[in-house]
Amino acid sequence: MGKIKVLDPDTVSLVAAGEVVERPASVVKELVENALDAQARRITVRVEKDFGPITVVDNGCGIPADEVLLAFSRHATSKISTARDLENITTLGFRGEALPSIAAVSRLTMKTREPGAEEGMLVEIAGGEVLRKETVGAPPGTQVIVRDLFYNVPARRKFLSSWRAESSHIVDLLEHLALAWPEVSFSFWLAGREVFHTPGTGLLPAITAIYGAEVASTLLPLEAEEGELKIRGFLGRPELARGHRRHQVVVVNRRLVRHYGIAQAIAEAFGSLLPAGKHPFFVLFLELPPRLVDVNVHPQKTVVRFADEREVLALCREAVKRALFGERRPMVKTPPS
Ligand code: ADP
Ligand code: MG
Repeated sequence: MGKIKVLDPDTVSLVAAGEVVERPASVVKELVENALDAQARRITVRVEKDFGPITVVDNGCGIPADEVLLAFSRHATSKISTARDLENITTLGFRGEALPSIAAVSRLTMKTREPGAEEGMLVEIAGGEVLRKETVGAPPGTQVIVRDLFYNVPARRKFLSSWRAESSHIVDLLEHLALAWPEVSFSFWLAGREVFHTPGTGLLPAITAIYGAEVASTLLPLEAEEGELKIRGFLGRPELARGHRRHQVVVVNRRLVRHYGIAQAIAEAFGSLLPAGKHPFFVLFLELPPRLVDVNVHPQKTVVRFADEREVLALCREAVKRALFGERRPMVKTPPS
């Protein structure tokens, strides 16, 4: 027997699952993104205490009964079909990895029904193994319950941070997702308590539901446009700046991303108005043609690369300066008299 072996499929799927499902928050993110891709108008998320069941319910398009198991196969997706599609991604998912990965490291139950279908389908999968598949009565849409996350990956379980740290991660994530999709109504329950409920009627109502009417009433609108690049959103005045970055939301083509360069550019635009060590409050939506941004950089899809990053950062600075200091000075300088 040589030293180098090809891993068996079960081990391969656990390794792959580890890339997508790093922690409980990643389960929440993937399931909510699937609900959003399914055009849900209403999404309810419940996370029970101490990594108890995570439940995500949506009223989206559901999965055809005869394709439910296919959805749990690795690299099975309804969202793209050829490599060319990678250049024009308009959905949040496209890798076909989330459901198989979550089901590989938990005990998962899915109930789903297409709005036009007579009945729904229920499947139960544990550690990647299908335990049950049967037709059931179900409301239109999809419900996924994830229990005993990492029950078969003791190493991962051990390194999970505390419930407090992890649940605050989930709160941040859902706040940001609900802000990124303000026309969808989100209801989020943590350990039996409703944390927030957005009405699904727009960005300012969503900000009000999450951060309160007082914060919402002081925000400045952000708006700028340059060629095919558009920015809109809200900016907090310097007094709303905090020592953490939890109130910094960047949404690129409907995708929640982390972009240090953008956060930096916005802080710079505040100049001396920003207290030292503080980070400004903003919810910023960037829209540009999909071909000018690459989201396929990392399995968790929170990193994006712009074809022209300099232009993006310049427009961010411009939008912030306009919000803080008023209209931009005319491009054509009047010659000194
Ligand atoms: P991806 O989102 O990258 O396509 P997933 O593993 O997350 O991969 O999901 C596989 C497929 O299952 C999706 O392409 C979609 O067709 C279907 N699916 C998953 N969740 C839902 C949902 N909540 N509603 C409708 N369809 C879903
Ligand atoms: Mg997905």
